[in-house]
Amino acid sequence: MQNTVKYPSEKIPVVKEDYDVVVCGGGMAGCGAAVQAARSGAEVLLIERLEMLGGLGSAGWVGNFCAAEGGLAGQGRVFDDIVNALRDYRAIGEENGWMVKRDKKLNRVNRTFDHRYLPLVLQEMALEAGVDVLYASDIIGAECSGKMIEKVVIHNRSLTQKVAAKVFIDATGDGILSRHAGGSALPDDPNFPGVIKPSNMMAMRKADNTPEPPEDMRCSDSMEPKYSVWPDAGDQKMLKMKLFHRNLDTSTGKGYSDAVRTMRQETPAFAEHFRQHHDADYVYSGSAPMLGLRESVRIEGDYVLTVDDCRSGCRFEDAVAYGTFTIDANEVSEILPPYQIPMRSLLVKNVENCLVAGRCFSADRLALSSARTMATCCLMGQAAGMAATLASGPEVRGVKASHVRRELIKASDNDEALVQQMMVKCKE
Ligand SMILES: Cc1cc2nc3c(=O)[nH]c(=O)nc-3n(C[C@H](O)[C@H](O)[C@H](O)COP(=O)(O)OP(=O)(O)OC[C@H]3O[C@@H](n4cnc5c(N)ncnc54)[C@H](O)[C@@H]3O)c2cc1C
Repeated sequence: MQNTVKYPSEKIPVVKEDYDVVVCGGGMAGCGAAVQAARSGAEVLLIERLEMLGGLGSAGWVGNFCAAEGGLAGQGRVFDDIVNALRDYRAIGEENGWMVKRDKKLNRVNRTFDHRYLPLVLQEMALEAGVDVLYASDIIGAECSGKMIEKVVIHNRSLTQKVAAKVFIDATGDGILSRHAGGSALPDDPNFPGVIKPSNMMAMRKADNTPEPPEDMRCSDSMEPKYSVWPDAGDQKMLKMKLFHRNLDTSTGKGYSDAVRTMRQETPAFAEHFRQHHDADYVYSGSAPMLGLRESVRIEGDYVLTVDDCRSGCRFEDAVAYGTFTIDANEVSEILPPYQIPMRSLLVKNVENCLVAGRCFSADRLALSSARTMATCCLMGQAAGMAATLASGPEVRGVKASHVRRELIKASDNDEALVQQMMVKCKE
């Protein structure tokens, strides 16, 4: 019997023995998974290390849903419900002052929203569906028997505890659970090594009185901050600080910490550059608590979705989700046709009862640069949550993708756009 727990396992208390599904990570993918699984009747625990749900969409201040032209229709019921709930708060929609910006050249649409409302909306939806939400709790290990996860090990204010479930979903963005359980990170793509360097979201607000900055906050000639200004978002200007040129390695704990430190050190200079070159009436009003890491670890699944699959608009017999966005990597920007995401790329290789969803699913780097959009992450999560619920026990590989697809479509009230995108060539 293999046991990956590094602690005196028998001394760690078990919080609960009988969850059907434990979802690790409460970003867009994790929320999609947890809400769907609970709506389908599973007993679900959602574990999140922060004090809010939404991941990069909320703590990373990424207040912009993007997709190919054609809008965001057909991304599944959970995502639709998120957008509608944001609209109820007047936190999305042109009618409420939130810009929708079209990029004709790249055939894509940006729909800004108020990221401050996302944690409220996601929590409301999770609780309403009956999800148990455990905040401020870190996944720190997995107790396994052979290729089966029996319990996740967590750490929080009660110190170390374990939670048992039949099926686990890794939506941590970093493949934390999968790696603890014996799954592997995909190797670097030799043509596109490393990951996209981090960015960070920061905000400037209009002020009546903008004092001259102290000397050391002004831009030095040696440092030219690179950033883009997002489409007008509410009462603030949102800047995406690009830290590409800093050669930061975020793949290790120390490297990630260095990236966060660098970002905080450079923030005043970005703010001042904006004042000097864009609008002197604005002052700095904060930056996202969570570093804007687009990519981290991609976990190896039963299938690795490739950029060539995406380029050819591939249709898979086991499709359970789809993407529409462009390739959006440092090196390549390219329009893609709608492509499908197979269930095999959500099944963690070498682990029997674990699915992966969101920005750490099994894809090559350029495929991920498209599929990591929040709508697609949420739809992947929804599919994983549905598959986990349909599994009669821990054997998620026994679940038919056609069954998952049918139930997802049913849950969306047969949304025509979703039906179209989920159509497969092969007979079911
Ligand atoms: C700067 C930037 C700009 C972007 N722009 C856009 C855009 O315009 N439009 C768009 O659609 N997408 C955009 N994206 C991409 C998108 O925001 C992300 O890919 C998407 O939100 C990822 O969702 P996720 O749920 O997979 O991961 P995350 O949002 O990273 O969520 C993972 C969650 O897991 C939690 N977690 C991690 N480790 C643990 C642990 N050990 N224990 C417990 N919990 C844990 C985290 O706290 C987090 O809440 C952008 C990303 C960045 C960084």
